[in-house]
Amino acid sequence: GLYAELQLGLITAHFGRQVEVESLEAPRIKQLCHLRAKVDQLVTGDQVSWRPHQEPQGIGVVEARQERRSLLARPDTRGVMKAIAANVDQLLLVIAPEPEPFANLIDRYLVAAEHTGITPILLLNKWDLMQDGKMETERQAKVRHLLDVYTQLGYTLLPTSAYEETALLALKDQLKDRVSVFVGQSGVGKSSLINALLPGVDLRVGALSAETRKGRHTTTTARLFHFAEGGQLIDSPGIREFSLGFLTPQEIAAGFREFEPYLGQCRFRDCKHQQDPGCALQAAVAAGQISTSRFQSYHHLVASLQN
Ligand code: GDP
Ligand code: ZN
Repeated sequence: GLYAELQLGLITAHFGRQVEVESLEAPRIKQLCHLRAKVDQLVTGDQVSWRPHQEPQGIGVVEARQERRSLLARPDTRGVMKAIAANVDQLLLVIAPEPEPFANLIDRYLVAAEHTGITPILLLNKWDLMQDGKMETERQAKVRHLLDVYTQLGYTLLPTSAYEETALLALKDQLKDRVSVFVGQSGVGKSSLINALLPGVDLRVGALSAETRKGRHTTTTARLFHFAEGGQLIDSPGIREFSLGFLTPQEIAAGFREFEPYLGQCRFRDCKHQQDPGCALQAAVAAGQISTSRFQSYHHLVASLQN
């Protein structure tokens, strides 16, 4: 027939209803594919069963999608959630001493990670600026103080520097055998880190380049890359600026891991955790078991994710 035997593949890019599939079996061929009508829209990172076209330059066909381990989505301009990447294992939340990090933004990403079941890892990039004399000591102390809150909560924090090979070793180890995405505010060094980890890869050019007769396709949707040391990156402008859609106050509270022992302990079931009498969360804040800044962050998120 036209197509080879059924095999397992990985979506590395998509172009409307066409996808680029990389075989998960030897030989690791890559082909542009159509989807069978019964196959729902696929996103980068999806695993599929597919049949390569017999001719290397042909267009293969995706028969079915495998179950997803996780799904990253973001609201489009009308607020409708759109899937952007599948099977992501870890969210690398990049922060830096400059631009100044904000607890509320960090909490926003942590809630997103907890909500989607993706492990968040904090990267303190521009670690070089934390050395003596590189910045005001007061600013450095403020950053350390802010990050202490998160390490005490059990989140992993890795210092990195895009310009120091040795400062990337721990990160490279963390990337192995996992699918990662980088997020964080503009200017923290996401592009610099990715460029250092993927030397020689032009992140902007079309995914297919010379590999198919279709020539260059450029895509603004997510693409999957392999790190030399193992592990994969899924990246796109949309992923880097990834934001949360509508979440209920309960879902937001569930994203604050230290709230867990107190949830359901308030006197009133519909407790807003504000001035409500018998609020277990308020009591935990007063007792120093929950940090005031995290509690404020929670209320801030409830106010911003509810319209
Ligand atoms: P992005 O907006 O998060 O992608 O950040 P960029 O990668 O564009 O970096 C923003 C600025 O920070 C650039 O001027 C980089 O040169 C600088 N930068 C990136 N990584 C480091 C680092 O590890 N140390 C220092 N000192 N500067 C860095
Ligand atoms: Zn309460």
